[in-house]
Amino acid sequence: MDEIGCMHHNDNDVHQSKGNTVKKRSIISLVAAGALVAGLAACAPAADSGSGGESGLIGVAMPTKSSERWIADGNALKDTLEAEGFTVDLQYAEDDIPTQVSQVENMITKGAKVLIIAAIDGTTLTSVLQEAADGGIPVIAYDRLIRDSENVNYYATFDNFLVGQQQAWTLLNGLGLTELDGTPIADAPKGPFNIELFAGSLDDNNAFFFFNGAMDVLQPLIDDGTLVVKSGQTDIEQAATLRWDGEVAQSRMEDLLTANYSDGSKVNAVLSPYDGLSRGIISALTDAGYTVGAEWPIISGQDAEVDSVKAILAGEQYATIFKDTRELAKVAAGMAVAVLNGDEPEINDTTTYDNGKLVVPSYLLQPVQVTKDNVKEALVDTGYWTAAEIGL
Ligand code: BGC
Repeated sequence: MDEIGCMHHNDNDVHQSKGNTVKKRSIISLVAAGALVAGLAACAPAADSGSGGESGLIGVAMPTKSSERWIADGNALKDTLEAEGFTVDLQYAEDDIPTQVSQVENMITKGAKVLIIAAIDGTTLTSVLQEAADGGIPVIAYDRLIRDSENVNYYATFDNFLVGQQQAWTLLNGLGLTELDGTPIADAPKGPFNIELFAGSLDDNNAFFFFNGAMDVLQPLIDDGTLVVKSGQTDIEQAATLRWDGEVAQSRMEDLLTANYSDGSKVNAVLSPYDGLSRGIISALTDAGYTVGAEWPIISGQDAEVDSVKAILAGEQYATIFKDTRELAKVAAGMAVAVLNGDEPEINDTTTYDNGKLVVPSYLLQPVQVTKDNVKEALVDTGYWTAAEIGL
């Protein structure tokens, strides 16, 4: 394989929609220490300097600082690109759509050569991206697909359907029904188990992939009676949480408990697609008198945020899904460099992410399930968090 930043597309790397495997070769090369940096250096753009640093300006638009993961993403992108001689205009929009639109407009005005965008609402960037296209500026969708625009060149993300499946499998594992990969456990308890379902923000394309992935696993067990959704709220519209807001999830959980569990019955599992929602759900349960122990429900999550890793260690949250933002930043930075060099970035999926205008060529990374058992191996040994940060 060539250097990552200027890799040429190879049909062997393409895999099918909803596939659970990204070619090992690609992953190994991505995680190989230094491989990307070497790759970037080897194919960094020559003297052609626009505004900004030697290699020019790259605009990075992130949704919000209210979640640790986006801070980590932004910092990793900035560090990686600056190491290659680019100047980075890194902006956070505090989940306000007009703010994000005007930040991207400013990046165009300042002469950005590439835009890397994690959208707040995947559908609201159409006209500003037309401006980018008119100026010949390539656009990389970061983590979240940008929808309804032809002017999205590449997409760097994780296997989001698999994220949803993994979240559901962590719940089944906590209930004693399956292994973490969904393999049934012999002599598992019969249930029935009460479960309630949460989804993310409906303006984020990922929310659908996570929920659909989870329901792919959970629906058969709801159908055969092993799992019972007492509230009956099984549609994504009912389960959704605008802007991934933990307080919104907390108040919906309070309502679910009051309306469906005041008869003394207990909720045994809660599907939560994001650690920030899980923390809201945990607060609602605590306020309703649940205590960690026998009747505390199994709760999923995503992003391996510090407070939630602590909650896993404390037995409040059963699991999270770790998506290494450093690897995602490397992939997106590599895409930016390749595009600037007129090379085709490495992609491994050309079928899954239809944004309403085109199927955006994508690179999907692999998410990792984290429970109490592998916190150290997954998060500390990889250098993502220090033992001190998570109180290990
Ligand atoms: C990301 C998740 C994150 C969520 C809330 C999604 O688009 O993929 O990692 O938990 O947004 O920020």
